[in-house]
Amino acid sequence: MLIAGNWKMNPPTLAEAEALGRALRLAPPTPATLLVCPPFTALASLAALLRGTRIGLGAQNCAATPDAGAHTGEISAAMLRDLGASHVILGHSERRADQAESDALIRAKIAAARAHGLIPIVCVGETADQRRAGQAESIVAAQLAASLPDDFAGIIAYEPIWAIGTGLTPSAADVTAMHAALHADLAARFGARAEAMPILYGGSVKPGNAADLLALPHVGGALVGGASLNAADFLAIAAAG
Ligand code: PEP
Repeated sequence: MLIAGNWKMNPPTLAEAEALGRALRLAPPTPATLLVCPPFTALASLAALLRGTRIGLGAQNCAATPDAGAHTGEISAAMLRDLGASHVILGHSERRADQAESDALIRAKIAAARAHGLIPIVCVGETADQRRAGQAESIVAAQLAASLPDDFAGIIAYEPIWAIGTGLTPSAADVTAMHAALHADLAARFGARAEAMPILYGGSVKPGNAADLLALPHVGGALVGGASLNAADFLAIAAAG
């Protein structure tokens, strides 16, 4: 089980990010692997704070260009590796929507991440309208097919867009069906290598629903947004895994 916290553009100050890191550092060991993904500005501090703990460090994005160069405002995979990150979230629905990230761009970012040894956590998910129209599985399958390069290795996060930050979650049957479909798609494309591609569930995971969600077939962990900003809640979710 991997329990990954996506802090998004939070907390507002470095002091608060460090306080959250310190609270997590005191965590009792859990069977689940823990990962925190703070904003770029807090990565170096969190790397120092979490060094020697069992909590890993990830970023929330990287440039599609792998190396240094004239790309104003971008952060490369090489820079993230240098700071101590092991993972990077790519293709989050907020970036697909706010920054108009395409599947092709996400595929290029995955290649850049892998070129520098970062493990990508690739997000896919449907809107409420798409689910209502019965298109959830086909939309997610299309995102997966177009985002992943042929040599992909990494982690998938199924995050229904309508469940993110809303307190809503799909039914157990819907999560089970989607994760089974994703697993089948990965197996069809990557063969035995698919077994090493965990599929996380993300979208309003809280201490109260984590155990039920994490017990579902083909759910290899959780990508947690809002609840990862509270150390007690994040650790309770991890304990449920
Ligand atoms: C997310 O945005 O990755 C997420 C899962 O958010 P939340 O847990 O707040 O729904």
